[in-house]
Amino acid sequence: MSDSVLFRNGIVLTMDDRHTVLPDADVLVVGERIAEIGVGLAAPEGATVIDASGGILMPGMIDTHRHMWQTAMRGYGADWTLTQYFVWYYLESGRLFRPEDVHAGNLLAAIEAVDAGVTTTVDWSHGLQTPQHADAAVDALQAVPGRFVLAYGNIQQGPWEWSASPGFRDFVSRRITPGDDMLGFQMAFDVTGDPAFPERAAFEVARELGVGVTTHAGVWGATNDDGIRLMHENGFMTPRTVYVHAATLNHDSYHRIAATGGSVSVSTESEQSAGQGYPPTWILRDHDIGVSLSMDTSVWWSGDLFSAMRTTLGADRSREHMEAHGRAETVTHVHLRAEQVVDWATRGGSRALGLDGVVGSLEPGKKADVVLIKNDDSPAMFPILNPYGHVAFQAQRGDVHTVLVNGRIVKRDHKLVGVDLAAAREQVGRTIDHLRGEMGEEAWARGMNPDIPETKVRDNPYTYTEWDAGSAQWKH
Ligand SMILES: [Zn+2]
Repeated sequence: MSDSVLFRNGIVLTMDDRHTVLPDADVLVVGERIAEIGVGLAAPEGATVIDASGGILMPGMIDTHRHMWQTAMRGYGADWTLTQYFVWYYLESGRLFRPEDVHAGNLLAAIEAVDAGVTTTVDWSHGLQTPQHADAAVDALQAVPGRFVLAYGNIQQGPWEWSASPGFRDFVSRRITPGDDMLGFQMAFDVTGDPAFPERAAFEVARELGVGVTTHAGVWGATNDDGIRLMHENGFMTPRTVYVHAATLNHDSYHRIAATGGSVSVSTESEQSAGQGYPPTWILRDHDIGVSLSMDTSVWWSGDLFSAMRTTLGADRSREHMEAHGRAETVTHVHLRAEQVVDWATRGGSRALGLDGVVGSLEPGKKADVVLIKNDDSPAMFPILNPYGHVAFQAQRGDVHTVLVNGRIVKRDHKLVGVDLAAAREQVGRTIDHLRGEMGEEAWARGMNPDIPETKVRDNPYTYTEWDAGSAQWKH
């Protein structure tokens, strides 16, 4: 059997450095890599030929921050703020997650990612209370044919504690292979701004292991400019550092991030409703800081980057208009373009993760993470006039027709291939039973339904009136 795949006649968004768009071209994949892109390519003998006409071919999308374990609780926190989230995961029910529960959440999240054309996902895994939890997280990621980065964390301990434990070192040596582009590794922890800078020890471990750090920074009420300053003054800000949210920092902090080459993982859907701060792309653009996109957690939000691109455009433009109106001005031309958010959803991620030589664009020689967006049954997939705009504002996860990861077909004709969704369903069901049983029905219901603040309707100086056309007078 041949190991080549030929996509025929698609609109190809290469996302190469020049953002080359080919309106009607073929993409040939041989083995793990993209072999050729062009018009009228010859199909190798035995190649799988996929008709991409009427569709868009683009690189697999890259999510740089997702707490995959929490997908087991999908949608539970729809009405939360960050406060309820912290109480639930940090103080109360997060502790109830056993290794099998982390496995269940990760399995479902990993399948969901590849289904949505997200071929690389950073598992911001801060529920690793023991190395057994970490083994379970990786077992789940390796059971799904996607590309992942395990960002190891544990919210139940200080990073200086868990990163110094023999169990952590043992896990890294057993499960992580430097240079493996299918399963990368980062360390995930936050910097509180404590002047004693206890996080130093964890940064030193990261440096010794040669791995990047990902950190929630500039989160209203949680992390601030002191954390950035301490990292910078102690030499721990590097081009591999990923700052998640970075929504409430001052210019000095953004200057430090820009000067050290780091990037920001923007989770617009999350920032808009949880309260970390206004989605920061408007100010990151000002500082020329690299951006990648992320979904954060499916305990609240969707798990696909179409939503991220759409909300990010909306938030950035909303801010631009609002600020202009505050100056009594009109924005006639928006700064942020659809093309840019498609770049952030692909190249932004590959750059942030140090994988830009491997994935992120459709170019010969790169690993073949390819997404075909095509849906002949959808009235929203015709006409495709502005392909970047189509990806950002028209397409959605149901339009993901075919997905290749590392040259392997993992979804075809809208159906997952070689993925055991039934197993994930069963495992997640057991986790829900466990959590619900441990918490009790009352606490379970309370956790999902936070109190609603009192709403006051303004006093209205006018009374309800209706115009009477017959008498040409207001009726009272
Ligand atoms: Zn997060």
